[in-house]
Amino acid sequence: MSVKDMMPHFDLFQPSDLDGALSLLEKYKADGWRLAGGQDTYDWIKDRAKQPKALIDLGGIAELKGIKETPEGIEIGALTTLIEVNQSQLIKDKYGLLATAAGRVASPQIRHIGTIGGNVSQDARCWYYRSGLNCYRAGGNTCYADTPEGMNREHCLFGASRCVAVSPSDTAPCMVALDASMVLKGPKGERVVKAEDFFIGPSVNITHMTVTEPDEILTHIRIPSTWANAKYYFEKVADRNTWDFPLVNIASVMQMDGETIKDIRIVCGAVQCTPRRLQAVEEAAKGQPRNEETANAAASLAARGAAPLARNGYKIPLMENLVRRAIRDA
Ligand SMILES: Cc1cc2nc3c(=O)[nH]c(=O)nc-3n(C[C@H](O)[C@H](O)[C@H](O)COP(=O)(O)OP(=O)(O)OC[C@H]3O[C@@H](n4cnc5c(N)ncnc54)[C@H](O)[C@@H]3O)c2cc1C
Ligand code: SF4
Repeated sequence: MSVKDMMPHFDLFQPSDLDGALSLLEKYKADGWRLAGGQDTYDWIKDRAKQPKALIDLGGIAELKGIKETPEGIEIGALTTLIEVNQSQLIKDKYGLLATAAGRVASPQIRHIGTIGGNVSQDARCWYYRSGLNCYRAGGNTCYADTPEGMNREHCLFGASRCVAVSPSDTAPCMVALDASMVLKGPKGERVVKAEDFFIGPSVNITHMTVTEPDEILTHIRIPSTWANAKYYFEKVADRNTWDFPLVNIASVMQMDGETIKDIRIVCGAVQCTPRRLQAVEEAAKGQPRNEETANAAASLAARGAAPLARNGYKIPLMENLVRRAIRDA
């Protein structure tokens, strides 16, 4: 049983511009914590599992908010709320995949305050880690989930490397499917990282879910027009239909030439520590007629290479069924 003592002290800063936030991050380094809507953050702090010295609230920085059309596609400020992404007419019209996924995150209350930047930057949802145990991801030397008795029903099928946690975000697979780019600002200036390279697994860095450095801020997400107006499919399977994290989710976009699948991107979430692009499925479906036979052939490749843990083998047929539906029912 964990002891709920006094909440540890931290300083709260509310900078009104990006430069102010960046200089605070530079000062506090790993002791600083970027705060957006707080829906991932507050649990960590209330549970005493993370104890930053300074919370740097990004909520007052106007330049990090809003959705705009650009010559190349759209740009979404990282502090834009999930409900705004879900309800934006521009996103609904051109990138219905992302609008749908944002509307499937958590509960209405959380979508009203949680941000798109926080959703793609959120940390792993592993029971053991979140209850403050000193596992590999927390800097320790064991994994409590990857044991014969471990609670690993929600954990990964692919990409295990000491840690078997998954990416729990519903919008992250859409970013990879839509070929988004993430704009990061830090003391050395701005860098733009493809969504496929933004999310990282434990073999790259076991304590981080993304390439964002402690002194950087995700400022915007850019979505090119490549997949604008494409046929799309998003489905999330969770234990409950009210708020709940995905057991597996799927995000796909498809361009058609008549009845033939001209091009497709298809990505699964919650099966590894990063959104998993299903390239074998894409190759099998490209150039094929969109019918039951193609859907079945593609589905049979969906979970190739999976290495299930003691309690998550059910994710294999789940992935196969989601791929079948993504191709057949988009
Ligand atoms: C009860 C509950 C149910 C949930 N269900 C789901 C679900 O079904 N699907 C789903 O996808 N998520 C779910 N979540 C997670 C929730 O959606 C995310 O935690 C939320 O979107 C995070 O956004 P936020 O703005 O509140 O993030 P915060 O808590 O403010 O930040 C989250 C993390 O991202 C970092 N961060 C935030 N913004 C930036 C930035 N601009 N640059 C760099 N780092 C940044 C923070 O430092 C922190 O580490 C759930 C959460 C709860 C509490
Ligand atoms: S799966 Fe990862 S986060 Fe969970 S206990 Fe193992 S090392 Fe920690």
